[in-house]
Amino acid sequence: MNWENNVRRVEPYVAGEQPRKQNVIKLNTNECPYPPAPGVETVLHGFDYDILRKYPDPDVSLLVNALAKRHGLSDRQVFVGVGSDDVLAMAFMTFFNSKKPILFPDITYSFYDVWAELHRIPYECQPLDEYFRIRKEDYFKENGGIVIANPNAPTGVLAEVSMLEEIIKANPDSVVIIDEAYVDFGGESCVPLIDKYENLLVTQTFSKSRSMAGMRIGYAMGSEKLIGYLNNVKFSFNSYTMNAAAIAAGTASVEDEEYFQDTVAKVVATRERTKNELSRLGFVFPDSKTNFIFAAHKTVPAQEIFDALRAEEIYVRHWNKPRISNYMRISIGTDEEMEKVICFLEKYLAAV
Ligand code: PMP
Repeated sequence: MNWENNVRRVEPYVAGEQPRKQNVIKLNTNECPYPPAPGVETVLHGFDYDILRKYPDPDVSLLVNALAKRHGLSDRQVFVGVGSDDVLAMAFMTFFNSKKPILFPDITYSFYDVWAELHRIPYECQPLDEYFRIRKEDYFKENGGIVIANPNAPTGVLAEVSMLEEIIKANPDSVVIIDEAYVDFGGESCVPLIDKYENLLVTQTFSKSRSMAGMRIGYAMGSEKLIGYLNNVKFSFNSYTMNAAAIAAGTASVEDEEYFQDTVAKVVATRERTKNELSRLGFVFPDSKTNFIFAAHKTVPAQEIFDALRAEEIYVRHWNKPRISNYMRISIGTDEEMEKVICFLEKYLAAV
């Protein structure tokens, strides 16, 4: 059994459950409740399957070009991958090779420490303040890189771009990754800083605001130099990360800006209504600029509410971890779904 001494052992990330059952109100993985842009359906319906004989374009030019145009960048400033998880994992491998620890908040996307462990990168978590805000001073020390989700997950808290700029500016010797998975729901993006800071990498995803979690498309934007290094690693690992259907469907999504804006506006409107209702029912939460709300109840423990919701086939997310065990993360669904949730909570909380 000596082979086991040479295994790269990792404790994997645990994603939110994808139930096989129908009729579940699924508010546990921050998906979008609305369909992808109509152009995506058109592309997939008309998809010429003979194309599948051939390898896809390794440079993913069509999609890279559409994204570059949308963000006012050059094609050489955009890198695409199989969801932002793929892009982030690749970025950790590419940029975090120092012996010094990388820095990220204590409460954040729980894949960061998994990638750090996977790639044997030392890391040091920086505690958020009592309101779940970043303290910039924590990032003014020696480090091997920085990764910050903005808005943060699972808290939903948005940091000011001016504060992030101070962190980026103070760290010219490290790559700073800003993970903007949720930025479209009311956040301000760091993309305009890309031309100013060669060490800034910004990642975004099609999984939330573009309703395409199942297609697996994510991307990174940064200086040509950073993107060049990322591509070198990608082409040393797997040249064809993006399949032909994903390239075509992703491009169709980017080309429909109006549908994108409408979808995001609907989610934001429902989120704001849900905030009012949750407050009325005695929940407290940091203000969210995302498609989820991270809520604790003033009197009833999160685990109990979580179990009660689950028995009702309403799935939300709960982590039994320090500082956040009394919170639940509730993704924003349709108005109808959120009404059902509120209606149930109202009855349930009146009875406990
Ligand atoms: N970053 C954050 C902060 C997330 O919450 C998620 C979604 N789990 C991702 C990145 C990855 O999303 P995807 O791989 O679907 O693009």
